[in-house]
Amino acid sequence: MPVYEYYCKGCDGIFETIRPLSRSSEPAPCPACEKKAGRIPPTSFSAFTMREGYPRAIPDRGTYYHLGKEVKRRISGSVRMNEHPELNKPRPKPVKSKGEREIMREKQQLRAKEEKRMRADRVPVIRDRTRRGE
Ligand SMILES: [Zn+2]
Repeated sequence: MPVYEYYCKGCDGIFETIRPLSRSSEPAPCPACEKKAGRIPPTSFSAFTMREGYPRAIPDRGTYYHLGKEVKRRISGSVRMNEHPELNKPRPKPVKSKGEREIMREKQQLRAKEEKRMRADRVPVIRDRTRRGE
């Protein structure tokens, strides 16, 4: 059976109920106050962070909703649009394999060797010819 969303005016909250399609348009009893609540179009509210100005989700667990997903805290500080720190956790840095580490070490050694050689050869500093007239 599909899930439908209903809005309770008394609680100013939204709840979901599983119902057969044939009964989806009927009002559903609110799980908090048992008043009849009318059906609302799906996902019309789920794109908002609920609570504090926005309708709450019923039953109220003191949580917030971000893009339809339940989160404990509201977004605070600066975050990228549509991102919530509880839902978009930073990915751990990929661990380099032994082979990759060896290649890195080799590259570093080669670079160090090259720098050493350049210093030893005393690569002449190219003079700035535009300043000759000074
Ligand atoms: Zn209610």
